[in-house]
Amino acid sequence: PARPIYAEQLPAGLQTISNIVAVSSCKGGVGKSTVAVNLAYTLADMGARVGIFDADVYGPSLPTMVSPENRLLLMNPEKKTIIPTEYSGVKLVSFGFAGQGRAIMRGPMVSGVINQLLTTTEWGELDYLIIDMPPGTGDIQLTLCQIVPLTAAVIVTTPQKLSFIDVAKGVRMFSKLKVPCVAVVENMCHFDADGKRYYPFGRGSGSQVVQQFGIPHLFDLPIRPTLSASGDSGVPEVVADPQSEVSKIFQNLGVCV
Ligand code: ADP
Repeated sequence: PARPIYAEQLPAGLQTISNIVAVSSCKGGVGKSTVAVNLAYTLADMGARVGIFDADVYGPSLPTMVSPENRLLLMNPEKKTIIPTEYSGVKLVSFGFAGQGRAIMRGPMVSGVINQLLTTTEWGELDYLIIDMPPGTGDIQLTLCQIVPLTAAVIVTTPQKLSFIDVAKGVRMFSKLKVPCVAVVENMCHFDADGKRYYPFGRGSGSQVVQQFGIPHLFDLPIRPTLSASGDSGVPEVVADPQSEVSKIFQNLGVCV
């Protein structure tokens, strides 16, 4: 997709990135980080050069979900830049890899830290940078969206939390910034057992939501023990089992972003 607004004011550190995709949710615990990480590794598997920026300063998930050998970001003292760590060919930056200093911070400080981590990193040439957004649509999220020229947004939600109000908030924030919401992922929508399919949170009003907001794609992501186990093990499911049903869902999502 063509670069949207702010291209001319692009922070230097981001000028070598072709597509910046936000993975966002209105609430915590819906699977946003799971989607961000598996989407990133799927794009890498499809041949793209990819980085993940974990912008969730209060609860960084990337260090749990992906286990690089080197678990600390390095500084280039001359250029005063940050060198990302890397796992399976994907560049990784998270506050959780920043060592000491995970402190209690107020909003403006968090925005400053995110801005610094994101824009002083030596990302190098990337086809995609996937941003695991902090949950919600408050000031931190808005500031982040203003610093970064996003090319697309993916909204993650679960059936029981899939209220029009929540998704609308997300869509409204991105549309104000002229960022297209390319897909909604309805996570934990069902599971299969004893040859039957169960919908523990009710059947999603997902299709209604995407219709109402004109979002082009809706993906159902089932509850899968392997997905949470791989999230805890440091090897993303799409890396551990590239042929799985889940990997196919992420391949379809990868084509949309
Ligand atoms: P968020 O980033 O929205 O806070 P996470 O991606 O950290 O959510 O997911 C919360 C927890 O739920 C994690 O332990 C994760 O492994 C698990 N989880 C997420 N999606 C699924 C799924 N489809 N099936 C099984 N477990 C899942």
